[in-house]
Amino acid sequence: MTRSADFSPKTRRIIAQRAGYQCSEPTCRQPTIGPGATSEQVAETGMASHIFSAAEGGPRTTGGLTVEQRSAADNGIWLCYTHGKLVDTNAGNAYPVSLLQAWKRLHEARIRTELGGHRYSGAGFVESITIENAFGLNEVRELKFGARHVVVGRNESGKTILTNLLSGIARPELLLSYGKFNDMKLRARWFDPDPHNVEILVRPEGISQTLDGRAVPYIPRPFRTVAVPHFVGPEVVANVQGISRLLGLDAVAVRGLLEDLANEPDCIIRDVSVNHDGLIELSVDWFGATRQCRLGESAPSNLGATVLLELAVAYARQQATAEPTMLLLDDFLAGYHGQAQVDIIDRLRNRLDGIQVVVTTHSPFVVAGCGPDWILTVLGGTLSQIQGFRLLTDLHESGSGSQVEVTVVTVRWRRGTRRPGPAGTACV
Ligand SMILES: [Zn+2]
Repeated sequence: MTRSADFSPKTRRIIAQRAGYQCSEPTCRQPTIGPGATSEQVAETGMASHIFSAAEGGPRTTGGLTVEQRSAADNGIWLCYTHGKLVDTNAGNAYPVSLLQAWKRLHEARIRTELGGHRYSGAGFVESITIENAFGLNEVRELKFGARHVVVGRNESGKTILTNLLSGIARPELLLSYGKFNDMKLRARWFDPDPHNVEILVRPEGISQTLDGRAVPYIPRPFRTVAVPHFVGPEVVANVQGISRLLGLDAVAVRGLLEDLANEPDCIIRDVSVNHDGLIELSVDWFGATRQCRLGESAPSNLGATVLLELAVAYARQQATAEPTMLLLDDFLAGYHGQAQVDIIDRLRNRLDGIQVVVTTHSPFVVAGCGPDWILTVLGGTLSQIQGFRLLTDLHESGSGSQVEVTVVTVRWRRGTRRPGPAGTACV
């Protein structure tokens, strides 16, 4: 019997070609096409595996997706025969949707970089973080990251702590305060594209670290995080120097990225100039109108933060071609109108290809802007316990073991609910 969500020959070919006919498992990359037995034949050994299962009862569930969505190229990953078998059989439970999506995006980013003529790409992704005894974040044990991940939690549930711990692999000083009262243990695993494991022990008297089993004074080549904090005052992003400090990026590089952004068709920045004091003058598309303004002065509220978001995405994209890069947006859209949150997440969709992004939020509007390619994790409780989330339907839980993955299939507002209005009014 043919399963209705099987890939058509055409879709299978698209999946294989986008992967350059190489296995997408990060350490494998085996070629799956080559010369056949005769001079007229081609031998092909790879397979297109389903990310969400083709049929009910498969290793990763159907995720609530329609047959059409499950048989589309987006739901397929190209693998060699060995890895394809592992992923598709009972062992499939060890390969959650988040992991396969991350493999696929990483592999396609790598092929894209190589197509552009760059021989080596250090691109990669962060697979997981395990946290024991972090002060203020006792509930989290292990998080397996997808390529696009939204972490939902109430205020004080530890969202900011999580982003600090992720940034702290490269900047251990950020970790010191979380081991003040307990011995905190942090483990992380990432690919660059080789696999790396780090273990960090934070004690009141100091930090000790091992990388791939060897004691080290610091992690010499960690993954990069580009973090945007949850509240950014307009004065902080009024000039190039402020943005430079906030992103940990050289001021000349900030100017270069700003000028690049003005040439991108789907960016709100149309024109930019920076004066000798580093003040930024912009022409922007702002909610349907073109506005001319100087950041921090005549700028509408939230414009500075929106420009910062654009810059952070551009910086992460640039960096991701050279090293594993995670963009961390910590409750970043909290100050925005509900519909603006939905629109911003939706507009970012195409720009996030090739980078890993973790958004933390307490807002149902942000979740409403996500799609089935986002993995959702709830900190400290269930979704229905968080105010506002009972208004959303069609979230689909899957997975097993230590992490229940919630995929955001389609979000509908329950009957009788007002459509998104200003945050804080409609979401109660
Ligand atoms: Zn393989």
